[in-house]
Formats: sequence, C-alpha cells, structure tokens
Amino acid sequence: MDEINQIKNFANQTLVPIVKDDGLSFILDYIKENNVKLILEIGTAIGYSSIKFAQVNPDVRVYTIEFDIDRYQQAVKNVNDCNLGEQITVFLGDAMAFDFDDKFDMIFIDGPKAQYINFFEKFKNNLSPNGVFISDNLSFHGMVEDLSLTHNYSTIKLVKKIRKYIEFLKQNTEFETTFYSIGDGVSVSKKRKLSI
Ligand code: SAM
Repeated sequence: MDEINQIKNFANQTLVPIVKDDGLSFILDYIKENNVKLILEIGTAIGYSSIKFAQVNPDVRVYTIEFDIDRYQQAVKNVNDCNLGEQITVFLGDAMAFDFDDKFDMIFIDGPKAQYINFFEKFKNNLSPNGVFISDNLSFHGMVEDLSLTHNYSTIKLVKKIRKYIEFLKQNTEFETTFYSIGDGVSVSKKRKLSI
C-alpha cells in the first residue's frame, strides 16, 4: 500500500477525523482549476489533507496548524515520509494564536467547529485577491439539517454552533458563499467584488 493510503487507514483505525473522499476530491479539483499555490489549513490532524493538497502540484505550498501534540508529531513524520517537507510546514498550537503576513489562495477551515467564525474573522485579511475560504463539516453527519439525529448535549451544542456559522456566512455582506452537499458539507466563500 502506498504511503498516503497507509496514512488514511491509520486515521480510520485510530478514529482521527479526516476529510471525506468526495469533499477532498472537490477541494483537489478546486486547487487544480484555480491554480491555487499557497494554502493555509486550520486543523492538520495527522497531515492527510495537507499531503493530498501538496501532491496536486510541486508548486503548491501548505501551512497547516494543529493543536494536539501527538497529532502534530505524527503529521510531521507523515509529511517527511512522503518527502513533502519542502512544500508543507506544520505548526503546533492554537490557530487563533498565529499571525501570518502571507496572502493565501485558499484557507481550509477544518478545525474546532465552535470557532469557525473566529477563524474566518481572524484570517480574512490573509486572502489573496481571488482567495477563498473552504469550510468542511457544515452538515456534521446530517445533524445540521436534522438535529433529532442526536440526543447528546455537547453534540447538540456543536451543531448549533455550525448552524450559527452557516447563518453568519449567509448574512455576510463582505463574502459570498456557495454551499455544496458534498462529503460532510463544504462551502466556498469568496470576497464580493465592490460594484462601482
Ligand atoms: N484536515 C485534516 C484532514 O482532513 O486530514 C483533519 C482535521 S480534524 C477534522 C481537526 C483537527 O483540528 C484536530 O486534529 C484537532 O486536534 C485540531 N484542532 C482543534 N482545535 C484546534 C485549534 N484551536 N487550532 C488548531 N488545530 C486545532
């Protein structure tokens, strides 16, 4: 089995959450079609999605941030095992504590759902002129559409936060968002062009 499928299997076996196949292929197509070169990812886990992004093209650079030390260490190992150390930089810490001067063509928000609005506000000035936010898990296993699928208090709280983020995106006057029922629910948010 090749390296990347071993990483995916490891994630599935150890219950590390990673992006779903069809959500991922949507994002990979976006990277190819829009000539995305510089990516910021919030939520590395063990590096699966960032490795897939970097494998699109040797010109792609990925900055990715992970809060959990064990996952961070596993991600660094996986990146090196795939010989992608030149393309991917893994940062350890809370994404809210990072500041970048760079302008990203794509910011993939795949970290803690309760903080999606904070990440959006924090990093919106780090987008390149045609840059986009891509957010994952907006369906949260169908629970966002149907809250009766869970009776767990903390899950209900989380789902309500995701609903709040969706509302925030819908009401946003600065960014226009398209929602896709792909994977676990993906959105693409692009800065609105100022009309003269
Ligand atoms: N993007 C990964 C992939 O598809 O391979 C999956 C990321 S997983 C859904 C979300 C990750 O965000 C978890 O590993 C979690 O530890 C991390 N995380 C949680 N809070 C964070 C924070 N404040 N800053 C950075 N990462 C965080």
